[in-house]
Amino acid sequence: MNLWRRLSGRSRALALTGAGVLVAGGLVTLPVTAAQAATQCSVDYTTSDWPGGFTATVVIKNIGDPLSSWNLGFTFPNSSQKVQQGWSAKWSQSGQNVTAQNESYNGTLATGASTSIGFNGAWSGSNPKPTQFTLNGTVCNGGTPPTSTPPTTTPPPTSPPPTTPPPTSPPPPGQKVDNPYAGVKGYVNPEWKAKAESVSGGSRVSNNPTAVWIDRIAAINGTPNSSSNGAMGVRDHLDAALAQGAGYIQFVIYNLPGRDCSALASNGELGPDELPRYKAEYIDPIAAIQGDAKYKNLRIVNIIEIDSLPNLVTNTSGNAGGTVMCDTVKANGAYVNGVGYALAKLGAIGNVYNYIDAAHHGWIGWDSNFGPVADQLKAAAVASGSTVHNVHGFIVNTANYSALKEPYVKVTDSVNGQTVRQSKWIDWNQYVDELSFAQAFRQKLVSIGFDSGIGMLIDTSRNGWGGSARPTGPGPLTSVDAYVDGGRVDRRYHTGNWCNQAGAGLGERPRANPETGIDAYVWVKPPGESDGSSTAIPNDEGKGFDRMCDPTYTGNARNGNNLSGALPNAPISGAWFPAQFQQLMQNAYPPLS
Ligand code: BGC
Repeated sequence: MNLWRRLSGRSRALALTGAGVLVAGGLVTLPVTAAQAATQCSVDYTTSDWPGGFTATVVIKNIGDPLSSWNLGFTFPNSSQKVQQGWSAKWSQSGQNVTAQNESYNGTLATGASTSIGFNGAWSGSNPKPTQFTLNGTVCNGGTPPTSTPPTTTPPPTSPPPTTPPPTSPPPPGQKVDNPYAGVKGYVNPEWKAKAESVSGGSRVSNNPTAVWIDRIAAINGTPNSSSNGAMGVRDHLDAALAQGAGYIQFVIYNLPGRDCSALASNGELGPDELPRYKAEYIDPIAAIQGDAKYKNLRIVNIIEIDSLPNLVTNTSGNAGGTVMCDTVKANGAYVNGVGYALAKLGAIGNVYNYIDAAHHGWIGWDSNFGPVADQLKAAAVASGSTVHNVHGFIVNTANYSALKEPYVKVTDSVNGQTVRQSKWIDWNQYVDELSFAQAFRQKLVSIGFDSGIGMLIDTSRNGWGGSARPTGPGPLTSVDAYVDGGRVDRRYHTGNWCNQAGAGLGERPRANPETGIDAYVWVKPPGESDGSSTAIPNDEGKGFDRMCDPTYTGNARNGNNLSGALPNAPISGAWFPAQFQQLMQNAYPPLS
């Protein structure tokens, strides 16, 4: 699980030679008929160009009547311009005419709503922007009444700039607090605590709250015979939390049909068509227990379905490494409807707080993934009877290793006039660390309609990167690569590496309100539990062998063909891996005393 994904080599090859924004509108002289008047739109078409290629981001805003489906059309000014690989719409090109038909999850566009789609393209000679866009056959004029005199200057944006949505009505029943982590003690899972204390020095950290993963149906009642999970069930943990006098407890909801569709290490028990079982045998019983009045004074946090929705954007057909399973669960709606159902059912309980997984900066920090993943999260938040009010916030970096802060590398730095974004490590990402990414992504999510009070969580269980290899200052100014590689604290070979990373350490200890927009630093992945086995290990839990967990594996397109960076001798995902726990303590940052 927890994979870095993005579009094929695009960002690696991207050397910006020009970028521009075009606001289409007001360039129109066509009469508008009564039937057409109901459709109206504005389109922002932005490109990042490099010799021969470009990435286009196209934001469609509906300023007419609500739409349940849409079809965008435009014409490239030059015959050399080609759409090569698109996302968030079904793209096609005939001659110079391009159309983009909505996907099943983004066809609905309320009045005032926007959606972001895009593509990678090719050009030669020049790469001018299209001058006119149509939506469902109607020319987009930005809401400006058509005029017969074309404006001489670029028209001002005709629709009001996006503003923070007005405060929404409070979430349904119960007294939900703004930040469930604030001012109360977290539940310490006694099963994890015992494992931590079985390793020398473990008692220094074993009193930290970690999440309880409900990673299969049987885990609801406890799995005494499993090597990768505990004997305590959901009720046992809730009762123990009451006994501890804890104020909050954290669960991970992790059992979607066709789980972990882009990897093998955390494949689950439900096949891609088993959404009915997910609802009836997994979510319903969990909701019944969490809704028991006995627990009403506990704040119950649910982390919803790690990696699932980002996978639908970046690991489906048309993307480097897209998988058949991700295509299947995208096409049959298993993830979107499963997440929507979980949100609605669990969010209806007054003391339950849902946080959806939102990947990490090394996965969706590129423009091509950032907006589309936000849109995908929104689509799931309003699926299966849910509303955005069932979402209390989002979590980033779950079970991943991306550094919280890069003290010696800023994305705005440059070396000898070259931006560090050009380095191999950053590879045109917009972010270098999780804190900056989480704060920016929060704003993006609010701008597309999530409640303005949402908060972010950052999993800091294993992103400490301390120890003797930690840089103590910036790298040399000899080249962008030397500067970035010499100064970065994240010592992985590549930000796409996700399995049992050698050199990692425990990160910030869990605490509430650490930074603006961040509800808490949390330990969702219990430190010392494996991400996946380093060789194939037969098991009856559906867990596969993913070569990203094999230290001898030399990688694939998704991790830039780098070594996996995984520790050897690892057991299956979830199972206790003492050597890893030892290393995490040794390389903790802040260090352990
Ligand atoms: C595994 C789960 C486990 C969790 C926490 C995941 O990678 O698939 O079985 O509960 O990690 O360690």
